Amino acid sequence: MSNPSLDVAGIQVSADHYINGQRVASSETFPLHSPIDQRLLGHVSEGLAEHVEQAIVAAQKAFPAWAALGAAGRKPYLDRFADEIGKRADELCQLESNDAGVLLSRMRNGVVPRAMLNIRWFAEHALELQNRTLETDQASHLVRHDPAGVVAIITPWNAPLMLSTWKLGPALASGNTCVLKPPEWAPLTCSLLADAAHAAGLPPGVFNVVQGSGANTGAKLVSDPRLARISFTGSVPTAKWIAQAAGANLVPCSLELGGKSPFVVLEDADIDSAAATGALMYRNAGQVCLAGTRFLVHQRIADRYVEALRAYVEKLNIGDPRDEATEVGPLIHPRQVERVAEYVDRAVAQGARLLWGGARHGFGAQYYQPTMLTDLRQSDEIVQNEVFGPVLTLQTFESDEQAVEMANGTDYGLGGVCYGEQTHAIAVAEQIRTGFIWVNSFGIRDLAAPFGGIKRSGIGREGGAWSFEFFCDVKDVVVPKKPFKASFSHR
Ligand code: NAD
Repeated sequence: MSNPSLDVAGIQVSADHYINGQRVASSETFPLHSPIDQRLLGHVSEGLAEHVEQAIVAAQKAFPAWAALGAAGRKPYLDRFADEIGKRADELCQLESNDAGVLLSRMRNGVVPRAMLNIRWFAEHALELQNRTLETDQASHLVRHDPAGVVAIITPWNAPLMLSTWKLGPALASGNTCVLKPPEWAPLTCSLLADAAHAAGLPPGVFNVVQGSGANTGAKLVSDPRLARISFTGSVPTAKWIAQAAGANLVPCSLELGGKSPFVVLEDADIDSAAATGALMYRNAGQVCLAGTRFLVHQRIADRYVEALRAYVEKLNIGDPRDEATEVGPLIHPRQVERVAEYVDRAVAQGARLLWGGARHGFGAQYYQPTMLTDLRQSDEIVQNEVFGPVLTLQTFESDEQAVEMANGTDYGLGGVCYGEQTHAIAVAEQIRTGFIWVNSFGIRDLAAPFGGIKRSGIGREGGAWSFEFFCDVKDVVVPKKPFKASFSHR
């Protein structure tokens, strides 16, 4: 596409919106800095009321024809969309590494292939949605999954490409048209997604991108009564605001929110394996919603476990995310570094003990040391609140009952990890109240599986059939098996 306005690491990327198949510039912009070295990457268009309006109108206009194509008609477009994402793999890796600080190696090996799969998988599985029939004694129920209309998609900065495609895939495959509002701290890969969609020939208006801040652009978008769905991933305070805006218009919304997930190490766990996995919780500088950030370790093995984990943590390679060898990169924004440092300082002032870390890391201004705090009470702020940085807590327990009580002892309920002898670990995992939990493993995901949290970690599930249920209007066309006789006494 024409009109590239930024040059990031030699890659041309538009800083403008993408509305109705065209780039649209704004009279207002916001600056974008790299978390690696704070250099100015450029200025990005701020979505004003007129842009939100144009995008919604374009999506509304494009909806009937896109919906009428049916899943089979849409699939070739979406397969080409996935192909075009693949053709831009190098650019996408560089852009998200530069604007979000995500490891280049992780982008290449995990995120970009997953982004392609997010589009391809749902395009394929949408074919199965059509014409399900439920037979009962009285009737055939033709259960249709009809596209709902215009969908607003709002994503956070810690995984913009992955999360945007995770929502776009099912929303588009089931026949909706979309307006995506990317995160203002990491907007570039979503802009390149628009190029991929354009090159794939997606009809104008089917997929629109409006850049901008949450408080301004995002708030205008989610308050619009013409939306059929809102799919949001982000923080609890924003979700509460969005739920109110959506509620005012009775627009269904899916909310994938933060976590304070337990990482339970039972007495019969393989300590080395649990320690190797434990060190992964510092991935993306701890800015991972599903990380197990509260370590709960059986008292009898706690000392051995701490030393095993320490050995892995000491070996972590902290540095520039663009370097192949780097394992932990920067935090997204100076405000996030400040927030993390304040959390740790307050915890220490209130009596917590540092096992390691606890200060900024010398590599750069937005780096913080992998940190572990212990000597904590369950009610402590650092145990209860999501920090979203490389800061973990460690508490010990003496019985499974106590482990479960502590694991369940926060308002969050996203995920969890449980290490122990397999049967034992499953039994404990089953009692932990979260949307998902990994037994003797971490991070295994499949697009067919449900994903989402309970309690303050979210409302609704996405993934597989759950995504389709959310993005579709389910309708029962009831066809009687015997001729119907009208009667007032009939139920
Ligand atoms: P955030 O809530 O501040 O922002 C998320 C998105 O919402 C951004 O695009 C932002 O611009 C937008 N936004 C902000 N205010 C808005 C408003 N009033 N109306 C509409 N949109 C608005 O979250 P963040 O700081 O970008 O991301 C970190 C949070 O996301 C953490 O809590 C993390 O746990 C969570 N997260 C959850 C998952 C999950 O799948 N459960 C995945 C990744 C991140």
